[in-house]
Amino acid sequence: MYLQKLELENFRNYPKLDIKFEAKPGIFILLGENAQGKTNFLESIFLLSFPRSFRAKTQRELIKFSENYYTIKGQYKAEKSLSLKIGYQQKPVKRSYQKNDVQIQLKEYLTNFQSVIFTPEDIEIISGAPSDRRRLIDTILSQTDREYFEDLVGFTRILKQRNALLKKIKGHFAKIDELKYWDDELIRLTIAVTEKRKKFFKYVAENLPRLYQDLADDHSEQIHVEYNYTAKTKEDHFDDYPTTVRAYLEDERKREIEIGHTIVGPHRDDFSLKLNDRPVANYCSRGEKRTFMLALKIVEMQYLEEVTGQRPVLLLDDVFSELDPQRRMKLIELAKEYQTFISTVEESYFADYKGKIRLFKVEKNEVLPYN
Ligand code: ATP
Ligand code: MG
Repeated sequence: MYLQKLELENFRNYPKLDIKFEAKPGIFILLGENAQGKTNFLESIFLLSFPRSFRAKTQRELIKFSENYYTIKGQYKAEKSLSLKIGYQQKPVKRSYQKNDVQIQLKEYLTNFQSVIFTPEDIEIISGAPSDRRRLIDTILSQTDREYFEDLVGFTRILKQRNALLKKIKGHFAKIDELKYWDDELIRLTIAVTEKRKKFFKYVAENLPRLYQDLADDHSEQIHVEYNYTAKTKEDHFDDYPTTVRAYLEDERKREIEIGHTIVGPHRDDFSLKLNDRPVANYCSRGEKRTFMLALKIVEMQYLEEVTGQRPVLLLDDVFSELDPQRRMKLIELAKEYQTFISTVEESYFADYKGKIRLFKVEKNEVLPYN
């Protein structure tokens, strides 16, 4: 899919922006000094595909300082031409999702437009907290599967209520029997979410090793990807997972009441990467981690294409300075096959591609053609 038009209003540092692109594969370079709005621009495109920012904690952050709302509208071409618009107003709080100028719900909004963003901070997905890794999985799956998103939202709601009940039981304001309903719901949604994550990880495990080996130019390296369930189970025994989770809940009942937290479920699961049988997070060099990250992003792109039948829009935020020339070249070659937006402070990385790329200058809250 290809973005044709992007309109911003009061989004981050942009009071107003209205810009058009050719709807075909190709590279758009966003060249600009620091703090000019390059990442903000990419963030706005990403939000069209998934209206939860990869970097903002609140919607309020996205509104231009001292304004009361923001909107992002994108017109894009997939099988046909469509438009999507999101908006958020601070006072009174109002969220809005539109498709072809008709108001819709978030769940209908999702899965229309897909993008993949790659930023230098993504290395945290390898070395950082499990929550960073879960966010990656949830973002990918929610962009392609509305039911997954709904189950995840449902799960989070159940989790909150179940945790509140655990605290009440500890304070003798509620009885243990009252957990039964919440346990059943927790198990039902845990299975729904985990099953899809597991399927996705099967795809990752099948595709990541070769992609990593190609990028690293070394086909002797052994790569393993594993999804780690909180309630221990053998991969091939997933059919028994409801029983496993129920048994785990019963075994851990006392501890859960003591700490007032639900300790089993997709909110505690994680995944791990191994290179030659050693955890990547602990042993690999920064360069190797970056290569893993790049390989993971390519898996993400391929997965989205396989599921939707359309190539996602690719957003590369300043990642070139972190890659060596060989990997840089491989990434540019791949990016040419997609509609790709690249932010950079350094024009020289793309010197060999003059005439084949579109250049935009990002300066003083404006994005203007440069060649
Ligand atoms: P760098 O090269 O340093 O990564 P950048 O061009 O990617 O820079 P952005 O992250 O896009 O820069 O930010 C551009 C400017 O937007 C920053 O000065 C930032 O403070 C500002 N900004 C962020 N949020 C808002 C907001 N809600 N309202 C107004 N300005 C904002
Ligand atoms: Mg930036």
